[in-house]
Amino acid sequence: MDHFEYRDGVLHAEDVPIPEIAAEVGTPFYVYSTATLERHYRVFDEALAGMDHLICYAMKANSNLAVVATMARLGAGADVVSGGELARALKAGVPPEKIVFSGVGKTRDELRMGLEAGIRQFNVESEPELEALDEVARAMGVTAAVAIRVNPDVDAKTHPKIATGMSENKFGIPIARASEIYARARAMAGIEVKGIDVHIGSQLTDLAPYEAAFRKVADLTRQLRAEGHEITRLDLGGGLGIPYRRSNAAPPLPFDYGAAVRRTLGDLGCEIEIEPGRLIAGNAGLLVSSVIYRKQGDGREFLILDAAMNDLIRPAMYDAWHDIVPVREPGPDDPVAPVDVVGPVCESGDTFTRARALPHMDAGDLLAFRSAGAYGAVMSSEYNSRPLVPEVLVNGSSVAVIRKRPTLEEMLGRDAIPEWLS
Ligand SMILES: *Cc1c(COP(=O)(O)O)cnc(C)c1O
Repeated sequence: MDHFEYRDGVLHAEDVPIPEIAAEVGTPFYVYSTATLERHYRVFDEALAGMDHLICYAMKANSNLAVVATMARLGAGADVVSGGELARALKAGVPPEKIVFSGVGKTRDELRMGLEAGIRQFNVESEPELEALDEVARAMGVTAAVAIRVNPDVDAKTHPKIATGMSENKFGIPIARASEIYARARAMAGIEVKGIDVHIGSQLTDLAPYEAAFRKVADLTRQLRAEGHEITRLDLGGGLGIPYRRSNAAPPLPFDYGAAVRRTLGDLGCEIEIEPGRLIAGNAGLLVSSVIYRKQGDGREFLILDAAMNDLIRPAMYDAWHDIVPVREPGPDDPVAPVDVVGPVCESGDTFTRARALPHMDAGDLLAFRSAGAYGAVMSSEYNSRPLVPEVLVNGSSVAVIRKRPTLEEMLGRDAIPEWLS
């Protein structure tokens, strides 16, 4: 459920008509709904009720300071994957004791940043990283709280680019070697082992891979405890999928996910950490664009938009589907016809969808890509020298520009022409 609905024939973000925002900031732009963000957090919180738990919002889905601050105000922690995200989490008001740091390639500078901030936990993904963290922590005279990410060798049955829990993937340590690596970690003066971390992929639409992974984590918890380790936290990662396509079967609900957690891990007395990103932000955002031209090709029609793959790369990168809706509500009997929806970038890959059945739209009309709040703005670039699109946050009838569109001068100002050329 989200808060983008037609009212009086016009698409609204909560109480705000989309055309009003378009008139204010120009197109294309991203718009996010506070009520939807809040609702998704609460749904997870309720799904884990009765278990000691912390929801660490996976900031890589959408790291705008205003979005992260919205989460922080609800009591969420953050899952960060770089020093930049750590800086954003702190600036947005996430308490350090609720920040976990994930990622296969944390640099020593990033490890130091985390230790200086006093974050809750490092999710360590390899032995070399464990050694580096131990060294950096000892040099600073502190100890690093650690969960070790295990790779459970489970097929998440999602797009190969976002499956992370199979032995061929770069993530985590092989679960078969966990015993040996936990023993090494225990001997390190700069390391304090707190728990186990697992994250098997993103956009999961089936609970079975989760259950399989969680059962392996439960077995490992018992084994490590028998070997004398104190395991008090289990970080289960993120990855629960969202319904990108309204006509498809809905993915499992957080409530069912919570039940699976309880069933597999509930008797271990551990604090449960989860790292949802997409499910928090995905359906809380739209990308709004205008039609520049409607073009008749050889046997196909094209809608050429002012948004492109540099603004929303998911269709080009993951063959992803986004529902596309006109901002002006079509009548129930308005005809639909197949059309290719494309951007202006000079690549055939700049195609959002092919032969999509859509109501008639023409130059100047506004349309919206649904479910664009996660892995949308954060993955955008200025390819083709198209300035980053603005982001807008709505809260009831309030509207705020939370990242403005750079001017051409600002965009060009980041380059420098060396002296020998001027
Ligand atoms: C990407 C990622 C997440 C968030 O995944 P979603 O599919 O957005 O929920 C959580 N944890 C880790 C370690 C990740 O890499």
